Amino acid sequence: MNFQFYMPTRIIMGENCINNNAAAIAALGKKALIVTGKHSAENNGSLKDVTQVLEKNAQQYVLFNRVMSNPTIDCVYEGAQIAKDHGVDFIIAIGGGSPMDAAKSIALLASQEIARQDLFSGKYGDKVLPMAFIPTTAGTGSEVTQYSILTNDAAQTKTTVASPALFPNIAFLDGKYMDALGLTTTINTAVDALSHAVEGMLSNRASQLTDMIAAQSIGKIASCFESLKSGNISTKDRQNLLYGSTLAGMVIAHTGTTAVHSMGYSLTYFRDIDHGRANGLLLAEFLKLVKCQCPEKIQQILSLMGYENIEAFEEIMNALLGEKEKMTLEEVEKFASIAIKAKNISNCIVVPTQEDLLKIYKTVFSV
Ligand code: NAP
Ligand code: ZN
Repeated sequence: MNFQFYMPTRIIMGENCINNNAAAIAALGKKALIVTGKHSAENNGSLKDVTQVLEKNAQQYVLFNRVMSNPTIDCVYEGAQIAKDHGVDFIIAIGGGSPMDAAKSIALLASQEIARQDLFSGKYGDKVLPMAFIPTTAGTGSEVTQYSILTNDAAQTKTTVASPALFPNIAFLDGKYMDALGLTTTINTAVDALSHAVEGMLSNRASQLTDMIAAQSIGKIASCFESLKSGNISTKDRQNLLYGSTLAGMVIAHTGTTAVHSMGYSLTYFRDIDHGRANGLLLAEFLKLVKCQCPEKIQQILSLMGYENIEAFEEIMNALLGEKEKMTLEEVEKFASIAIKAKNISNCIVVPTQEDLLKIYKTVFSV
């Protein structure tokens, strides 16, 4: 056996965990930049819980609440400038993957001078501001990964800033912030988390340890499929989805994602299809491709979800995701030609060709 496992993020899960662990936030610094999306952190009570703890700890804070979905390079440079102007010494991210990912690049850019053209170079020092993350969607697992995924207009896709220095110091997991998360976002983010765990098991960087974590993640998420389908999501479901998505984040922190994510980025970049939905649309067809060479692995994944074959899995994905978008041949040809250049294509135990990617897009969208 030959593997490494690095997970430096302290995970604190439970109702009111922010308020119950004020000392963990006190230890991070004197002045925080709170990074959020436009509205949800204020509406779901998470921002108030954080500011109350900061005030109780006599810590100062500045709010940067302008992170959009699929954050841009401009957005993270703007956030970093605000962090520098106000002399903050730590970051708190609240929200879905977008504010969390933006916060990591902000923590990096506030500590190091990195020119825009070098942002995706991978050549960074270790200095970053300490970070506490509060996920309010159960999908990306960004609270336990070293990835900050940004919209990259030069490459017409999404590109990852990755460094071991970008693991958040603390992740606070409290499902109560998702009580009013809409059904579509709940489904899309759950499918994203599932995709992380499944792709992790299909990665040639997987280990027995990541497979064990992925297996538990897949079981937890799949246990919520029927609730997601009915739209009747209990507190227990919320907890299972949050726990499952954090586990899946721990998996991709080690295995990376695979072709499903590479292909999904084109759907998001060119057609504005939500990140999780994009992966979910492609997942079953990708499993069919891998099955040709690795049937046992696919069978193992299906059994974890309680399915006998890919068609049964496809059925639940179709039920959850609804009607598919219309695509033209020109579009999917362009998507395949861009997706094949992504780094994570080579992570899979079955490395697809551009023709394989095109076939998947064509089948999924009936082109
Ligand atoms: P998101 O873009 O962060 O948020 C989607 C929507 O949900 C926003 O409108 C947001 O509103 C709203 N929202 C968030 N929490 C809510 C809550 N508790 N209640 C009500 N509404 C809420 O979506 P996401 O799917 O979580 O993240 C997607 C991003 O993560 C993509 O950029 C993707 O590339 C990235 N990602 C990163 C990793 C990683 O390892 N780092 C892995 C996978 C995906 P507000 O804008 O008002 O907050
Ligand atoms: Zn994802």
